[in-house]
Amino acid sequence: MIKVAVNGYGTIGKRVADAVSVQKDMEIIGVSKTKPSAEALIAVQRGYPIYIADMSKKDAFVKAGIPVAGSVEDMLKKADIVVDGTPGGVGESNKALYEKAGVKAIWQGGEDHEVAGFSFNAHANYKDAIGRQFVRVVSCNTTGLCRVIKAMDDAFGVTKVRAVMVRRGADPHVVKKGPIDAVVLDPPTIPSHHGPDVNTVLPHIDIVTMAMIVPTTQMHMHAITIELKKEVSRDEVLAIMREHNRIGLVEPKTAIKSTAELKEYVMDMGRPRSDLWENGIFEASVNMVGKELFFFQAIHQEADVVIENVDAIRAMMGEVKDPETSIRMTNEAMQFTA
Ligand code: NAD
Repeated sequence: MIKVAVNGYGTIGKRVADAVSVQKDMEIIGVSKTKPSAEALIAVQRGYPIYIADMSKKDAFVKAGIPVAGSVEDMLKKADIVVDGTPGGVGESNKALYEKAGVKAIWQGGEDHEVAGFSFNAHANYKDAIGRQFVRVVSCNTTGLCRVIKAMDDAFGVTKVRAVMVRRGADPHVVKKGPIDAVVLDPPTIPSHHGPDVNTVLPHIDIVTMAMIVPTTQMHMHAITIELKKEVSRDEVLAIMREHNRIGLVEPKTAIKSTAELKEYVMDMGRPRSDLWENGIFEASVNMVGKELFFFQAIHQEADVVIENVDAIRAMMGEVKDPETSIRMTNEAMQFTA
């Protein structure tokens, strides 16, 4: 059993902990919190040992009825690998801690590529992550882009990608971020960082991205144009999307044409936390004009990277060498077919 610690049990960390705990070859040996909270109380309910970054806060945890198993350093001693789920920028400052403990570590997309020196997407570069000590799982938007670009590149060859990201303003529970009533160019310059971030995983892809933030919490929406190396039919493209195990087609018969309706659908499916782990490509939008492929895809920011973290763990531990085997194991354990 691979012993996994989660340092930073927040939006991503708590989902990774639950995803790891249902895998047959992994277990959660502890999660860390900085202060007592609703999330910490749920972690106790789930049976995850709680470790804390700052031991001077121990009394506050105990007062809230949250037993403290030790410090983050204590947690690292018990782990084969740590998933860093701390806020963007904070993760980097934990690197010395992980180096000192001699533990493998995974960072999230809020950190720069350089923190790990390797950026990961299971379908794109699993094999290159085998045995590594440090890996960064790219952001939610980059993950969604990498999945579909890699699939199209493998099937037809990609000449160039042009994409517009309409990004959610904040995660649903976040009360201090906006915008409430504006469309914000973020960044106001073009390209946005997403294209270069895709290139950390797929260096040969010609990609330019633009991004804005809108007042919604549900999901991101991407408007994507991919120029393919050859003219193919819409049906050929749909067939590749349909058979991909982390791309889901939102079928016209559902009449879904918004992130809100898609989120409701996923909730009705009974997914935990109504998480959409796969790319949600709107089938009706998929269109070919000459060699250019057009489509919209919804990306659930809190969810798509979670399963990538599970595969990154497996690759780094080196037991499972074949990406498709790991991806299948992860998907099956989460009881999900895209
Ligand atoms: P979050 O704020 O929801 O959770 C972060 C957690 O880390 C909190 O529980 C916080 O208490 C804890 N923490 C803060 N400082 C800590 C420290 N020094 N030691 C231990 N724990 C500490 O953040 P998040 O949204 O889960 O983001 C985590 C990472 O995942 C970031 O790099 C982010 O960019 C990336 N990411 C986030 C999303 C998203 O939409 N939420 C999507 C993809 C990737």
